[in-house]
Amino acid sequence: MINCDVLIVGGGPAGSSCARALRRAGLQTVVLDKASFPRDKVCAGWITPQVVEVLQIDLRDYASGRVLQPITAFTAGLGEHAARTVRYGGIVSYGIRRCEFDHYLLARSGAQLCLGETWKDMRRQDGRWLVNGHISTALVIGAGGHFCPVARFLGAQLGKDERAIAAQEAEFVMSAAQAARCGVSAEQPELYFSEDLQGYGWCFRKGNYLNVGLGREGNHRLAERVQDFWSRLQSQGKVPQDASAHFKGHAYLLYSHARRPVLADGVMLIGDAAGLAYPQSGEGIRPAVESGLLAAGVIAAAAGDYRRERLAGYEDRLRERFGPRGGGTLSKGIPSGLRLSLARHLLQTRWFTRRVLLDRWFLHAHQAALRV
Ligand SMILES: Cc1cc2nc3c(=O)[nH]c(=O)nc-3n(C[C@H](O)[C@H](O)[C@H](O)COP(=O)(O)OP(=O)(O)OC[C@H]3O[C@@H](n4cnc5c(N)ncnc54)[C@H](O)[C@@H]3O)c2cc1C
Repeated sequence: MINCDVLIVGGGPAGSSCARALRRAGLQTVVLDKASFPRDKVCAGWITPQVVEVLQIDLRDYASGRVLQPITAFTAGLGEHAARTVRYGGIVSYGIRRCEFDHYLLARSGAQLCLGETWKDMRRQDGRWLVNGHISTALVIGAGGHFCPVARFLGAQLGKDERAIAAQEAEFVMSAAQAARCGVSAEQPELYFSEDLQGYGWCFRKGNYLNVGLGREGNHRLAERVQDFWSRLQSQGKVPQDASAHFKGHAYLLYSHARRPVLADGVMLIGDAAGLAYPQSGEGIRPAVESGLLAAGVIAAAAGDYRRERLAGYEDRLRERFGPRGGGTLSKGIPSGLRLSLARHLLQTRWFTRRVLLDRWFLHAHQAALRV
């Protein structure tokens, strides 16, 4: 039998960030994950400097033996229209590999780890939760990503009444010959928005790794669109002709769309389990990390009393940080009717591409790192 103060189900960025903060607050914390780490996660692997800052990552230490790709520019385009490149003259983001990044964060969290074990059930016993029949805990945190079983336990109708972003991604190492022929610069990811503004594809080089993917609202003809995108990148010389990719799918909820309850007596949800990805870009690592830290602050202040009303401050913190639920996706950020023609026009302008699309929607440059 394992006894702890807090059990976190899921050792991704949300779970590991929360675990580290709870450990530092002196709470006995266990992380349960169905995967053995290092494990992969379907993701482009792009993080902003605010993530590095709030997690206090020593970049020199991190880069030793791991991929850390500085990003200094972006290329952005709409459909078949000519793409525009914005250069920043300094580092504005980083590319990481999720198998390395998540492993690094989880290992340094200091939490007790139960890896390779799937959450099966939980029930109340003597005022505590008994999870999988052998973990007794006062509080359970669901950090299991979009398909988190704890979110389901709280009543989330996964995939039923939720409008999720469906995405496919492939990451592979290029041979030296392929890398020499790859038409994408490592420090300059490329983003291609679909004509209907329901999503975008990316081609992102991290050292000799190439990450290609496409995400959009709903999964109608997703695989076909991904194949079209891949063929287009190959015909343009961005992806080496002899490269092959195995695309893997996943989903996530945008903050504006999520309706999941995030709290109950002795239960909280963080990260993708709560549906927190930024509406316009789909960036989810930063909200995952921040929600994990916000939850940890509320838990520490609750001083062992984890009734719903004592944890309610977490919902307030989320609202203060991310705004009210609702709000705009990429397409809703532009008045309806004019949407497509206006978007075409705006994406051809340097001002909009840099100041709104990149600085505001993708880099969230206006929002400093979370202070905890
Ligand atoms: C194609 C794609 C590209 C993306 N690109 C980016 C990007 O470039 N930058 C960015 O910021 N965001 C990106 N995102 C979003 C980002 O990946 C997520 O928002 C982020 O991983 C959320 O972190 P998390 O810790 O909440 O969940 P996850 O990272 O999903 O971790 C959940 C953990 O829970 C474990 N788990 C799940 N079910 C169980 C269970 N039943 N029992 C035990 N353990 C379980 C899993 O094994 C996993 O380790 C992308 C998403 C997709 C789909």
